[in-house]
Amino acid sequence: SKESGRNSYSFFTQEMNHDYQKKMVLEKALRKALHSNELKIVYQPKMDIETNSITGMEALVRWESSELGMISPTEFIPLAEETGIILPLGEWVLKSACFQNKIWQDMGYTPIPVSVNISMRQFYDDNFVESVMNILKETNLGAHYLDLEITESISMTNINSVICRLNDLKAMGISISIDDFGTGYSSLSYLKKFPINSLKIDRSFVKDITSNSENRAIVKTIISMANNLNLDVIAEGVETEEELLFLKSNGCLVVQGYLFSPPLSGEEFERTFLEQHKG
Ligand code: C2E
Ligand code: CA
Ligand code: CA
Ligand code: CA
Repeated sequence: SKESGRNSYSFFTQEMNHDYQKKMVLEKALRKALHSNELKIVYQPKMDIETNSITGMEALVRWESSELGMISPTEFIPLAEETGIILPLGEWVLKSACFQNKIWQDMGYTPIPVSVNISMRQFYDDNFVESVMNILKETNLGAHYLDLEITESISMTNINSVICRLNDLKAMGISISIDDFGTGYSSLSYLKKFPINSLKIDRSFVKDITSNSENRAIVKTIISMANNLNLDVIAEGVETEEELLFLKSNGCLVVQGYLFSPPLSGEEFERTFLEQHKG
């Protein structure tokens, strides 16, 4: 009837308004966050499981809003991408991570590269390569201490311009990792064409590795593929000894995960992972 039609219509718009308003509030707060010290970076070690030593660190952004409290990157990164805020935000993360890494090197700690997550929107921005170059110049960090984690979905469109851009970055000395590997839909042929250094096995495959035979098969396949293509392979989200054992016995020798450490504040990371390795 006309009545119920109108009712469902108004219900729908209320829902929409609610979502829309929530997003507006979040977006406004996020724009503010950039200029009011609400963003921080935490670092999670990448561990070499043969030597039990740290081989890298991943920078992950954190946002504690003065109005809204802690908000997960899984919530605000998609919004930042949608609104374009990811451009200044991503640049801030990159600059801060490079700056911190250089400070640690200047303090005499053994140099260890830092991996920074780069969203598609950032990567596709025309100024991306130049902005990375400027940040390295500004922070004086050696390019081979910077690793960029990009997702597989990047390879879906504009293959040639992607390869071009990756080559520019590689020529500078930066290394490239494919993040969340296995979760995208792209063909495997690009692995050969793309100048990349490593594959990161997504946590969704590492999880339940002991009970799920499909995950075991997928992880084994990714590891042997990486080995055959001469790529490094890193497993993310390793939480148990069983997962670690499986990865190790199948040739994945670098891992990240709560088993070793959650992401830590810069101070905690320095205390826990750098001080003992002072050069
Ligand atoms: P990701 O790049 O796949 O990062 C791994 C996520 O798994 C991180 O969540 C990390 O804290 C979490 N993690 C690490 N070890 C374990 C573990 O053993 N178990 C479990 N359950 N989780 C673990 P986080 O920090 O909440 O980040 C979520 C996602 O948000 C990231 O996924 C990444 O896609 C995005 N993100 C985070 N920081 C940035 C950033 O600075 N820039 C961009 N573009 N994206 C970011
Ligand atoms: Ca990542
Ligand atoms: Ca992941
Ligand atoms: Ca990711």
